Amino acid sequence: MSPITLALSKGRILEDSLPMLTRLGLGPAGDIDRLLRVPSEDPGVHLLIIRPADVPTYVEHGAADLGVVGKDVLMEHGGSALYEPLDLDIARCRLSIAAVKGSPYADPAGWSSGRRVRVATKYPEITRRHFAQRGEQVEIIKLYGSMELAPLVGLADVIVDLVDTGNTLRANGLVETEVLTQVSSRVVVNKASMKMKHAALQDLLARIQTMKA
Ligand code: AMP
Repeated sequence: MSPITLALSKGRILEDSLPMLTRLGLGPAGDIDRLLRVPSEDPGVHLLIIRPADVPTYVEHGAADLGVVGKDVLMEHGGSALYEPLDLDIARCRLSIAAVKGSPYADPAGWSSGRRVRVATKYPEITRRHFAQRGEQVEIIKLYGSMELAPLVGLADVIVDLVDTGNTLRANGLVETEVLTQVSSRVVVNKASMKMKHAALQDLLARIQTMKA
């Protein structure tokens, strides 16, 4: 049978999942800083090292059998085409709204200024759904990084971004005003692979499950 392909999210999730992969005997057997496709220590498993936002796409299309990706990315992508069998409890953080400390937007009650609130975020879909549920119309400004800068330079009134320790917000004079959702890394599996490679994938998922603590 062809090897199992596991897509890993480059960055924080990769760093946090490497100890677990190594314990499982699936550590990379190659230079993960340069190679995008790396054999693992297990000849039956190959690793893809890709941008987090691309992991659901690779798995959905079967270019990877399974992947490790943040719940934030899955929620933004719309993960219904994938199985999501495991919460790895790593790379934990939360997706929150934040505003400039002392600004009217630091107090959600102060939002009723009549003007549409401008929200800068890397997560336009999650943000749109959140405010739509509350019946609030906001202007969403899509950014690709450094969200914290946007309210400081008047590009946006608030941001929706990942928060872990809160140090980045504090350092930039921002305060967290509301938590949208808790985030951790999930294992996602391609639906066709789950049928075609059932035994191998079930075995791998069971091994991951026992190792995750
Ligand atoms: P912190 O200063 O610890 O609150 O971390 C916030 C910064 O780290 C923000 O720029 C976030 O986008 C990023 N960050 C925090 N947690 C994660 C995570 N689990 N995955 C990716 N980026 C994160």
